Amino acid sequence: MAIAAAAQHSTLDVKTLREDFPILKQRIHGKPLVYLDNSATTQKPKAVLDALHHYYFEQNANVHRGVHTLSGRATDLYDAARITAQRFLNAADPREIVYVRGTTEGINLVAQTWGRANIGKGDEMVLTEMEHHSNIVPWHILAQEKGARIRAVPLTPSGELRLDELEKLLNERTKIVAVTHVSNVLGTVNPIADIVRMAKKRGITVLIDGAQAVAHTAVDVQALGCDFYAFSAHKIFGPTGIGVLYGRAALLEAMPVYQGGGGMIGRVAFGNITYADLPYKYEAGTPNIAGAIGMGAALEYVMAIGLDRIAAYEQELLAYATQRLSAVPGLRLTGTAAHKAAVLSFVLEDVHPHDVGTILDREGVAIRAGHHCCQPLMGHLGVPATARASFALYNTRDEVDVLVKALGKVHEVFA
Ligand code: PMP
Repeated sequence: MAIAAAAQHSTLDVKTLREDFPILKQRIHGKPLVYLDNSATTQKPKAVLDALHHYYFEQNANVHRGVHTLSGRATDLYDAARITAQRFLNAADPREIVYVRGTTEGINLVAQTWGRANIGKGDEMVLTEMEHHSNIVPWHILAQEKGARIRAVPLTPSGELRLDELEKLLNERTKIVAVTHVSNVLGTVNPIADIVRMAKKRGITVLIDGAQAVAHTAVDVQALGCDFYAFSAHKIFGPTGIGVLYGRAALLEAMPVYQGGGGMIGRVAFGNITYADLPYKYEAGTPNIAGAIGMGAALEYVMAIGLDRIAAYEQELLAYATQRLSAVPGLRLTGTAAHKAAVLSFVLEDVHPHDVGTILDREGVAIRAGHHCCQPLMGHLGVPATARASFALYNTRDEVDVLVKALGKVHEVFA
């Protein structure tokens, strides 16, 4: 595993760790790249790039169907990555790990299979005001089809879920609570175990959108007690186009199939088809083999460093960045929850976030500006868009200083 040796010590040696990420050495408009768009996607370490390269150079073949050596190798690597993902989430069984394209596909899978089988007219689905469109639209499609209703848990002014309101929303018509683990805009880390407990008291199914959590906090699906947990590899230093839907085996076994095709069947005759066992029942067609292998390498990379150490480092960085940004004249942070991941969304008085993003780019600083696929949340915040700096394990205090200095340039331009 190509992890910088210094990263094995108790505090992160970020300077050495950065060597694992070749892309970070670039200059943008003549300035050193400061990459603060990690909530959108993370950069990839050499361990992941090497795994992809090695796979295509030496191991490429289709999985599961071949008797030849290369197919055996590809299958072994593909299966090993599933075991890695199981270990990463502390799932009880590798059959509970379904490969999907990412968080979005994982949630759509649940909505279209479990949802179509279990949600009917007049039923309710409880979401929250901070959900990403990926955790709203699939439920909306289902609600329209079935005559069901979506309810949303409101937020406190600091961007925390109103658990008292959640309690009031749960009733005998509630069939699912679908909630994000970490908000991609506010950074809020939601109290998932408490939410699951509240839902389970009433026998309600719980899905967690883990897209923004996995790179920043250790996840144990058994300890959380959720029924489904979805994440995307690209948010945790892995490739795009691959992710995981964790589902409790009993639920996955009972659910109807999703897409049909090769690899997901037991036996096929016209008019009579049986389906494969878990998890293959949900994995129709040639899968993203390289992606799964690359994701396995990414998860191994993160686990070797240790998510607790990553979280501790990012918390220090968050505290520093919060203090520095709060001192920028005219800057208002959106999202000041007590328990946050290292995501800082903000608005600058009288300057459109897109202008902030464009000016920062000239300084080599990559941030995101827009609605972040959270239009209901923007409505709640009363803004059309925010600027967002989101951090990962390779970001530094020096980079926070560059961001703050670059924000000074925005003031100069708009003075
Ligand atoms: N949920 C959240 C909270 C996200 O931040 C994102 C990605 N921005 C998604 C879901 C969707 O992830 P993907 O596009 O990788 O499917």
